Amino acid sequence: MQATEDLIRSVVRQVLTEMSSPVKNGRGHRGRFGIFDNVDDAVSAATTAFEELSERTMEDRKRIIDHIRRISIDQCVELGTMEMEETKIGRLPHKIEKLKTLGERTPGVEFMRSEVFSGDHGLAVIEHAPFGVIGAITPVTHSLPTITGNAVSMIAGGNTLVVNPHPSGKRVAVEGVRRFNEAIYRDLGIDNLICVLAEPTLETADALFNHRGIKLICVTGGPAVARAAMKSSKRAIVAGPGNPPVVIDETADLDRAARSIIKGASYDNNLLCIAEKEVFVVDEVFDAMLAAMDRAGAARLNAREVEALTKAAMVSTGEGEHKHFVPCKDLLGKDAAVLAKAAGRSVSADVELLFGETDEHNPFVPVEQMMPFVPFVRVRDVDEAIAKAKFYEHGYRHTAIIHSNNVRNMTKMGRALDTTLFVKNGPCMASLGLGGEGYLSFSIATPTGEGVTTPLTFTRERRCSLIDDLRILGK
Ligand code: NAD
Repeated sequence: MQATEDLIRSVVRQVLTEMSSPVKNGRGHRGRFGIFDNVDDAVSAATTAFEELSERTMEDRKRIIDHIRRISIDQCVELGTMEMEETKIGRLPHKIEKLKTLGERTPGVEFMRSEVFSGDHGLAVIEHAPFGVIGAITPVTHSLPTITGNAVSMIAGGNTLVVNPHPSGKRVAVEGVRRFNEAIYRDLGIDNLICVLAEPTLETADALFNHRGIKLICVTGGPAVARAAMKSSKRAIVAGPGNPPVVIDETADLDRAARSIIKGASYDNNLLCIAEKEVFVVDEVFDAMLAAMDRAGAARLNAREVEALTKAAMVSTGEGEHKHFVPCKDLLGKDAAVLAKAAGRSVSADVELLFGETDEHNPFVPVEQMMPFVPFVRVRDVDEAIAKAKFYEHGYRHTAIIHSNNVRNMTKMGRALDTTLFVKNGPCMASLGLGGEGYLSFSIATPTGEGVTTPLTFTRERRCSLIDDLRILGK
């Protein structure tokens, strides 16, 4: 009896010592709760965590994930507010809702499965094994939500991860990761399943891309990081940029289209990569469509106001043939009322979206603006609308949307744009199971083709064959 109590006391002492004075390698990273200031230490800790996770059951993986889900849901107000205060882009209710939604709906262990081939020569079982430590790069538009979603799916697949967050969302990333790891450690005794670099830079991202201990990369971000990941020598899952076009033909339910565009394009002030960014409407219903937007509560800017907003919101960068517009940082992700002010107009704080007629050459059409102003372009017919939608989607093959009741037009557009997500008659988020069917992820792998990521995206196939036996069905 005395010996047992002594043993318990000594284990507790050891755990407390490890937590208060973390040392540099192996199991000594316990008590860091995933927070690191250099890539080597983070990868070493995540490797140890991976080895420990590999010894655990599927039930344990689920229990680990339940902690991440619980914290994302129960603490969404506090963490969402922290994200809003740090990043200063988007809208507070949506920051909160995103954490809750990802906690509730990210695919977890229930997505894991095996396949079997059973035949004359026995059995072959295909199982989905983890890669190991995954290097994840996350965007400022959804810093902690992306980490939450990545962590749930990657751990469900048996992996651990090291995150290089966007520098402008690093504090909330660190705080969320600390809370996840602490809860998991206290319940299951494994620390550092999710590691985060507290001072992320392009150099730490590069070091992660090239680290021998990193077995797979998953980046969620814009064109520069997508290109960098595709050039890396590691296998990369790339959730890249988009510029989702909307087509409206003469058969569309215009009021439904207007409500959908407002819901999708205004969500978190248009920060979603899937959000409606520019709209092509056939001439026959163009004026009626703008009237439907008025009725649905968006604020219409006139030509002079659109011009003023464009001057304030778009800045030119690059030289010669590389010259192009980018969104101005001061207005990116800001409220419609703030954009309206820049346009010389006053709208009430509860207006969610601005819109106005432009031609296709207005920078709001080609640029992924991430602002709650949507340009409406008048086109001759649906063929011209689809052609322009394809052109301004830039071949990202990310997301496209049509409002139509003509199945032929839907089919034509689906074929022409060849996007990962193609939404008909709903807001963009319906394609992620939010008001539509299917499941959710905030890392939608576009150029590399994995689509809406799930735990299986982060696994390797392994085949186990038994020759000539265990086919129990007879000859
Ligand atoms: P961003 O490209 O500026 O940054 C994304 C991440 O990449 C950050 O962590 C950043 O520090 C890092 N980064 C940037 N350049 C890099 C480089 N050369 N090497 C290594 N790391 C680099 O994007 P953002 O503003 O944070 O996020 C918005 C972008 O992300 C939009 O283009 C949006 O479409 C895209 N996005 C895509 C998805 C998707 O699922 N496909 C989801 C969310 C956001």
